[in-house]
Amino acid sequence: MSDLRNVIIIGSGPAGYTAALYTARASLKPLVFEGSVTAGGALMNTTEVENYPGFTDGIMGPELMDQMRGQAERFGAELIPDDVTSVDFSGEIKKVTDSAGTVHEARAVIVSTGSAYRTLGLPREEELSGRGVSYCATCDGFFFRNQAIAVVGGGDTAMEEATFLSRFADSVTVVHRRDTLRASKAMQERAFADPKISFAWNSEVESIHEKDGKLSGLTLRDTGTGATSDLPVTGLFVAIGHDPRVELFKDVLTMDEEGYLKVDAPSTRTNVPGVFAAGDVVDHTYRQAVTAAGTGCAAALDAERYLAAQL
Ligand code: FAD
Repeated sequence: MSDLRNVIIIGSGPAGYTAALYTARASLKPLVFEGSVTAGGALMNTTEVENYPGFTDGIMGPELMDQMRGQAERFGAELIPDDVTSVDFSGEIKKVTDSAGTVHEARAVIVSTGSAYRTLGLPREEELSGRGVSYCATCDGFFFRNQAIAVVGGGDTAMEEATFLSRFADSVTVVHRRDTLRASKAMQERAFADPKISFAWNSEVESIHEKDGKLSGLTLRDTGTGATSDLPVTGLFVAIGHDPRVELFKDVLTMDEEGYLKVDAPSTRTNVPGVFAAGDVVDHTYRQAVTAAGTGCAAALDAERYLAAQL
């Protein structure tokens, strides 16, 4: 058992580091579990970030996260590159167990474990992420001006991404494994009315092709006949959903029907007093670094007020 902390933060993306910065500057000496695999969060896996305010020329994702990390450390946040493996939020003092089995105690906890985008699971997909393969049109659409793009998926997100991308792209092909969409009627109608968007129905991406380290095209397979065809695109947007990282909190924190943590918006309070949640583990609407950082700040301020009221 370690010392009783004021705040433990679980997760180290923009939400976690921002919460760490604010709680550290409030002299709460936060302990941050960064995760063992991707300390720094989702932006560690991307190249250029052009839409985080304050960087006129953009900044590489890992560099941005290094800066956030350093800024939190500068004010005294203690960072541990380890996973939290279980939590016990039943008492006033919250318990968090690390991978070595050590139990850490705190008066308040901020959950900022993010969400994982679903991948197609194809060879080359990971190595071409940021080099033609993307999971976020808002983030990367601008890089694909005047190019031919494919969007995989049939839900609201896929239609929204296709419609958004058609502003930049020469053409957008929606690849969907069925012959009807799951998206809402309104989203479908917008996509059908867009002259730049076409549909490859009953189709799956069978393979991804690369030239000079970048995406150069796809092979599609007809789900009915098995026939294959080539689709020469330089952008592939995978829009088949995200999974919030909530395994630790099942039966502990309230979630919505899609599995995201529920908070008492506009605050970051969960259903357990003293436990706050921020970033993409809560938000399936905006999913941006700046919004995650914003709610990380809100969680820190909420935790600070909660702790002040305990004294
Ligand atoms: P994350 O960044 O996902 O961080 C969550 C952290 O929690 C991770 O470090 C993880 O290891 C840790 N964690 C999870 N479980 C545990 C546990 N049990 N114990 C300890 N730690 C744990 N947004 C933009 O605004 N601009 C962009 O250009 C942009 N580009 C993107 C490119 C890609 C490829 C991707 C995937 C996303 C991009 N985004 C972009 C979206 C942005 O990265 C996310 O919205 C943002 O990172 C969410 O921040 P977060 O702090 O909520 O979670």
